Amino acid sequence: MICGNCQREIADYSRYCYFCGKHQATGFAGSPTQRLHRSITDSKIAGVCGGIAEYFQIDPTIVRLVWAFVTFFTAIVPGIAVYILAWILMPEMPVVMPAAAPAQSTPEAPRA
Ligand SMILES: [Zn+2]
Repeated sequence: MICGNCQREIADYSRYCYFCGKHQATGFAGSPTQRLHRSITDSKIAGVCGGIAEYFQIDPTIVRLVWAFVTFFTAIVPGIAVYILAWILMPEMPVVMPAAAPAQSTPEAPRA
């Protein structure tokens, strides 16, 4: 893909241009540029509902309420089973490390 700011070629699915640092539009919700992950920043149990909310760009509270209602009206067990399956199957959101982070190679001195 091409950066909209500096017009240089950058890798597909890049969120930021690595030449000029401009944030790239990630497309509409559910596009192939976005993958379903468990949220690490917005989780009550395992981040399943938070991850679904981030994927569809909606309020995670709505996802949790809908999930709770569906669970309640399907005799509880299917909703919990699907949640546990999602917990197992959905990968956790990868932690993005800053590219310019200094190497932490200095061991801490032992305290007396
Ligand atoms: Zn750029």
